[in-house]
Amino acid sequence: MPATILDGTKLASDIRAEVAAEVKALAASGIRPGLAVILVGHNPASEVYVRGKVKSSQEVGIYSEQHTPFAAATTEELLALVDSLNQRDEIDGILVQLPLPPQIDSKKVLLEVDPLKDVDGFHPMNVGCLSTQRPGLVPCTPAGVMEILQRSNIPVAGKEAVVVGRSDIVGKPVAMLLLNQNATVTVCHSKTHDLPAVCRRADILVAAIGRAGMVTREYVKPGATVIDVGINKVSERAVFDRFFSGNAKRLETFLAKGSTLIGDVHPEVAEIAGAITPVPGGVGPLTIAMLMANTVKAAKLRRSQK
Ligand code: NAP
Repeated sequence: MPATILDGTKLASDIRAEVAAEVKALAASGIRPGLAVILVGHNPASEVYVRGKVKSSQEVGIYSEQHTPFAAATTEELLALVDSLNQRDEIDGILVQLPLPPQIDSKKVLLEVDPLKDVDGFHPMNVGCLSTQRPGLVPCTPAGVMEILQRSNIPVAGKEAVVVGRSDIVGKPVAMLLLNQNATVTVCHSKTHDLPAVCRRADILVAAIGRAGMVTREYVKPGATVIDVGINKVSERAVFDRFFSGNAKRLETFLAKGSTLIGDVHPEVAEIAGAITPVPGGVGPLTIAMLMANTVKAAKLRRSQK
């Protein structure tokens, strides 16, 4: 039986509607959550992401502003900008779009963000809150993964979860969230021996690798839930054919755009998984929705700590 498709676009739209209702309720007490996005230089992919974040803020009623320092900006200039945003009461969330240009010390800049305004959840204080189960801000993509599981009624407690990838942005926080929800968690990486066998233990398999279609059928226990975090661009026809041969709808988009997106999971996995997130339209849309949710959460959290 083919897998149930976990529709991230629909879930994200539900979350945005809930956030919009919360923003409206806060407005009654004179509060309008505010998000400041910092985009340094001209990275085309980052520009697309930032446009999406600003647009989504407007749709849910969150005040947003963009800061666009030149590509040659220094660490000191960025620190001063972050500091000025830390001081402003109408700004509840500060997001520094990564990657930053190489001359900038990214870790230093992220450390400067007030943890109460750290809507990306990357500050060590929030990382610590997550691992010690204290209230704090959780990274958006991992939080989105948990929303998909919860809203799709996929049980987590007591299940075997395998996370492939151990980045600070996705793999590690997803693993911690699953552990906090009482899954038995294994974290894999590029040095893991016999990765397919470890992955086959999973009731819930999360792929956050950054390698197009790497997770094939032999990695997946039949009936497992597969969450595909990967976003990889395919623009070569031969590669396209390897993954999507016979998929007329995909071919149409590929020919029109000259490329298509594929996750870290091979499309053939949909034939044996119990449930699976598509790419595009799976985890991706949840990331921005969770940024909106985090901005509202930050607005409340900061005021509750005053
Ligand atoms: P990353 O920082 O490059 O981390 C990749 C992880 O995968 C590393 O831990 C690496 O292991 C592991 N890995 C690489 N090759 C492997 C292999 N052959 N076998 C086993 N493990 C392997 O990437 P990331 O930032 O976590 O992102 C992962 C993917 O998610 C990317 O495709 C990215 O575009 C996507 N992403 C999507 C969203 C979204 O909104 N949907 C958000 C963020 C990221 P080592 O640690 O040993 O090197």
